[in-house]
Amino acid sequence: MTHAALLVTAPGEVLLAPRQALAAGPGELLVEPDLVGLCGTDLEIIDGALDPAYVRYPVVVGHEWTGVVAGGSALAGRRVVVEGIVGCGHCARCAAGEANLCDTYDEIGFTRDGAAATQITVPAALAHPVAAGVAAEDAVLTEPAAVVYRGLARAGVTPGSQVLVIGDGTVALLAVLLLRLWSPARIAVAGRRGEQEALALAAGASSFTTRDPGGAGRGGFDLVVEAAGTAAAVGTALGQARRGGTVLLLGLPPHGQAVPLAADQVVNDDLAILGSFSYTPAAWRAVVALLNSGQLRPGILVTHRYQLAGWEQAVAALRGGAGAGGGGPRGKVLLQVR
Ligand SMILES: [Zn+2]
Ligand SMILES: [Zn+2]
Repeated sequence: MTHAALLVTAPGEVLLAPRQALAAGPGELLVEPDLVGLCGTDLEIIDGALDPAYVRYPVVVGHEWTGVVAGGSALAGRRVVVEGIVGCGHCARCAAGEANLCDTYDEIGFTRDGAAATQITVPAALAHPVAAGVAAEDAVLTEPAAVVYRGLARAGVTPGSQVLVIGDGTVALLAVLLLRLWSPARIAVAGRRGEQEALALAAGASSFTTRDPGGAGRGGFDLVVEAAGTAAAVGTALGQARRGGTVLLLGLPPHGQAVPLAADQVVNDDLAILGSFSYTPAAWRAVVALLNSGQLRPGILVTHRYQLAGWEQAVAALRGGAGAGGGGPRGKVLLQVR
């Protein structure tokens, strides 16, 4: 078998490169990825738009994935999902269970080679076997689900609360899907693309609008989840929380972009503004438990699937270009490696 990897040699330079067979070193597992999700962050890596502190070129992309462990291990043949954040294990943040804030940032698909490849070696300690009944289409969304889960857990969701999700991409849709675990009274979604409505409702949204909720005056939401990743959406989010409410920033606006903030409003309205970076090991374990128990089936958000050799179409679909699925809904875009 010949091996290959989707390699970004430098910003703007991507190719499906042939690669030598890998072998697991001490403490490592050799895994054969079969499904890899692409997201806006992959586009930023490809375009060179990501904060340079969070990526190292050349790099094989692929941080949302699942695969099957290759032979030569006790886990051979098992489907796994693998935490991408590789904590040093001895700094204060790692000791506190916050590997996402490790003194040394190291993440699969960013600072070390990712899974858009026929093989990958990973630290064995970060691999989590999934239950036999879990579909690959669900498992492949573990990483973005863990990112969203960690943010929601940090914000705290009160049963019976009013929640607004801003955005209509996969992060927003996963937020809707996961919010239901906390039984809010209402999950309103404010998106940009009307064709996303059916996906949002399927995920569990109470309502979907493409109107700017900011135009309706001050919102009364207990929690506003900003998942669009634009400066304008952050402004909208701040205006939609009730006094004493919480604004959770999950979307990632372009690097360095500033947002106008009326600081007196934050004080007078008693707002809590939270960022959330990546996921903790605990959030990852929680998502794996939800997958294994069948309580979370994020695979309903998958709308596009391409062979690894068709990566250019996958990237075009993610950018929303012409000939990439037309005007239909777009949830998760997958690469099928094998
Ligand atoms: Zn991603
Ligand atoms: Zn550390």
